[in-house]
Amino acid sequence: MTTRQYELVERVLSYQPSADEALLNRAYVYAMKAHGNQKRASGAPFFSHPLEVAAILAEMRLDDATIATALLHDIIEDTDTTRGEIDALFGREIGTLVDGLTKIKKLDLVTKKAEQAENFRKLLLAISSDIRVLLVKLADRLHNMRTLGHMKPAKRKTIAQETMDIYAPLAGRMGMQWLREELEDHAFRWLNPEGYAAVVDRLKMLRDRNQGLIEEIESALLKRLEEAKVHAIVAGREKKPYAIWSKMERKQISLEQLSDIYAFRIVVDEVIDCYRALAVVHTTWHAVPGRFKDYISSPKQNDYQSIHTTVVGPRHQRAELQIRTERMHSVAEYGVAAHALYKDNANGTGPHNGVLPHHESNAYRWLRHLVDMLLEGDNPEEFLEHTKLELFQDQVFCFTPKGRLIALPRGANPIDFAYAVHTDIGNTCVGCKINGRPMPLVTELRNGDEVEIITSEVQAPPSAWQNLAVTGKARSAIRRATRDAARAQYGKLGREILERAFSRRGKTFSEDAIAQALARLSQRTAEDVIAAVGRGELASADVIKAAWPEDTPSETPKRRRKVKRADEGWFDL
Ligand code: MN
Repeated sequence: MTTRQYELVERVLSYQPSADEALLNRAYVYAMKAHGNQKRASGAPFFSHPLEVAAILAEMRLDDATIATALLHDIIEDTDTTRGEIDALFGREIGTLVDGLTKIKKLDLVTKKAEQAENFRKLLLAISSDIRVLLVKLADRLHNMRTLGHMKPAKRKTIAQETMDIYAPLAGRMGMQWLREELEDHAFRWLNPEGYAAVVDRLKMLRDRNQGLIEEIESALLKRLEEAKVHAIVAGREKKPYAIWSKMERKQISLEQLSDIYAFRIVVDEVIDCYRALAVVHTTWHAVPGRFKDYISSPKQNDYQSIHTTVVGPRHQRAELQIRTERMHSVAEYGVAAHALYKDNANGTGPHNGVLPHHESNAYRWLRHLVDMLLEGDNPEEFLEHTKLELFQDQVFCFTPKGRLIALPRGANPIDFAYAVHTDIGNTCVGCKINGRPMPLVTELRNGDEVEIITSEVQAPPSAWQNLAVTGKARSAIRRATRDAARAQYGKLGREILERAFSRRGKTFSEDAIAQALARLSQRTAEDVIAAVGRGELASADVIKAAWPEDTPSETPKRRRKVKRADEGWFDL
């Protein structure tokens, strides 16, 4: 699917007639020659990568300088070309853009914990100097994620984590929803292969069961809208695995309960038509309570506008609906990039002149503001605290006292934080300080919080924490620790019971003695035997008999006596 030179140039000219054709051709040929016969991990010629990145950006209808930058974006890092040469051949504007990309390429945002906050600050600085640096970086990351299967597993995980933690939320915050969804979905696939496979399987099952449902709902919607004389385009789709997965986590529903997988978009001409369409929908089907949101009258911070509602539609299937105008749709899908499309023409149909009017976009204004705050403060932690960082709308960023960045889902508390730092910290956690003050462990964490976990040596987590923790990691660790603690307790009890039983028979209790009897007891380890005795599943007499079968050859087995001990219930003696 490699894009050819003339195809790329013609594509750019189709939406930007004033594009510098010679510049694009020069960048294409230069990058192709500079990368020479370098190969990607897949074995494909390296040049296919910058070319695909340029094609992604051309799909987003970005200007000639951005496309040229995309073609040249790996040149300084991966070839002998210098910044000076780029400046001389392509001008300072493109030189600066390529330089910005080279700088952020080296930032390690995942593995070097101590440097995260500082590197994050550098990233924001680089992308805020010109939003096109971010757009090229995101397209670069998208192509790398699409081809991630060719990388080594360890590298794959790091890139996927960075994408999930940093670049996908950044794309979302800049208003590019399709990009956010695709990045998240690729990252999810490599970070949680079992979860991904489970959702994909379930989707396939539902798809088979609901054959033709999307078309049925689409045509039902169209018919009703036509009757009401609302001109609209209706498009249904299945939600992406990661979107489904994160909703399951948020609402704590199981895969078996999952049915809500279809989303429909109604795109109309005028704002007033959005409300007319809404009236049609709500008078045709039942609206699900609590799901109606009007982001037209109050847009989101990244300029997103739409009406959201969920109805119980044909065949009793829940369907999520987004109702918006063509223009709102462009802003929702292309965010900061879309503002270029509408610069010259308020009704959104004219071609643009290729200059990105950064200042017109709320998202970009937000980014600038963030960086201004950053330049005023003198350390990155303080900066995050001050700005109440809203980049990651679904995440909070907190710090350990040593400055390590811990990203958690919104709503997380210090218990989640403790387990995110280390399972042992979670298991021994007894309290916490937030920003230096002792706080309850159930306090919801906020961006920039510095969290100090207080631990105690003897502590095992109370099983009730399973319901308090928000993250899956914390919950499963608590479940495991609770199980281990119970097992240890039964072990202690089993050991006491066996020691007493052994000494009554004049034997000395030892694990070696038990080890010889494992096969006869159908147990795997001496510890299993001891724990089974502690749980009352195995009688101590049976253990002795299995350990010394020759001692009790002819004796008929005594009936087990059950003796009630004061406060511990029934035990075999
Ligand atoms: Mn690249």
